[in-house]
Amino acid sequence: MPETRDWLTGGLPHIWQPYTQMQTAPAPLPVVTAQGVRLRLADGRELIDGISSWWTACHGYSHPHIRAAVEAQLATLPHVMFAGLVHEPALRLAARLAALLPGDLERVFFTESGSVAVEVALKMAIQYWRNKGQPAKQRIVHFRHAYHGDTFATMALCDPEEGMHALFAGTMPDQIMAELPTDAALRRAFDLLLETHAERLAAVIVAPLVQGAGGMRMHDAATLAFVAEACARNNVLLIADEIMTGFGRTGRMFACEEADVIPDIICLSKALTGGTLPLAATVARTHVFAAFLSGDPAAALMHGPTYMANALACAAANASLDLFERKPRLEQVAAIEAQLREELAPCRALAGVADVRGKGAIGAGELSCQPGGAIDLHGLRRRFVELGVWLRPFGKLVYLMPPFIVTPAELTTLTAAVRTVLTERAGTL
Ligand SMILES: *Cc1c(COP(=O)(O)O)cnc(C)c1O
Repeated sequence: MPETRDWLTGGLPHIWQPYTQMQTAPAPLPVVTAQGVRLRLADGRELIDGISSWWTACHGYSHPHIRAAVEAQLATLPHVMFAGLVHEPALRLAARLAALLPGDLERVFFTESGSVAVEVALKMAIQYWRNKGQPAKQRIVHFRHAYHGDTFATMALCDPEEGMHALFAGTMPDQIMAELPTDAALRRAFDLLLETHAERLAAVIVAPLVQGAGGMRMHDAATLAFVAEACARNNVLLIADEIMTGFGRTGRMFACEEADVIPDIICLSKALTGGTLPLAATVARTHVFAAFLSGDPAAALMHGPTYMANALACAAANASLDLFERKPRLEQVAAIEAQLREELAPCRALAGVADVRGKGAIGAGELSCQPGGAIDLHGLRRRFVELGVWLRPFGKLVYLMPPFIVTPAELTTLTAAVRTVLTERAGTL
């Protein structure tokens, strides 16, 4: 395929890839098509995707319904600015999200990425208190091991020791890190923390039930419910970052539902468009929105991304929500959860495996390092490709987050690859 080689060799020297040491990283794999759960490479090989392109492609790739919706939108109105103007796909989507989300989470602010959705939530929370005459309430409490994005304000909410952003320590706003209150002692400590700092706290931000990029750590619904109660008791807003967990991934449409928690602000992105186009939403409860209503123009929310509420992306999101209505997605997630639990369990006994855990359509194996040695992520990734699957271990984690349409046989291919690779690794320890 000569023209493939042209764009590849011509373009590779000019791209800069994410989280990648460009000197030592193996060459990236050129993908030419993506259909269902399969990625097709330029050399004709096919990989079963076990991670849904950073957890977005929940219906699989190139779903015909989403494709048709985007094509129809493209023919009429691909994009128009969202200040002073509105359009059908955005308004339909806002109304549908409001209906789908719990409680009175009713006001939708659209952006284009998860990090920016979190930034907007922070602005909402801080300005909420300012508009209510409590401008000192500006600090944010976040939890250890959390990940909330890569921009400066969101980096300040990530675990400082997890390493990804340590380089920028000192350049970010000073926030307050807490432990997730998973037991009685931690609950007392968390309550005390909020009580002590209440006068300067705007909000607590939590990734409900599963902390994703920080290491796929899981907590139960009671812990999440306690966080919400403590926020309410101490007059602090609760921001739920459901960018990863939203749209079925944990087994409910939104993870907060499992704890009957209605956060004051919720952040959505990743699977919002079924992995088709970039879009994010920050959704506020009625009382949060009401704090911005006044005769004073300066009380308005001062944020406005150029591509806000892009019509193609909104059309894709509406089509994705159609699929959640028409297809048994949550049942598929429950079946994936059961199969992952059964098929990953044998990994627990392997040398070098510290933990195996799962929640919804997420299965994770946490590795232990060899004494003195780092985990050979490149080696693990290469073996997975050789076995015909696309998985991308990071940190100490090998994890699966397949599209919900994965068949039992395809899922077995994925879990078997994990078992094979971890068994091989155990043999070298
Ligand atoms: C991916 C992610 C983000 C950041 O989203 P981007 O679109 O990459 O900016 C924030 N929070 C959580 C929980 C995420 O999983």
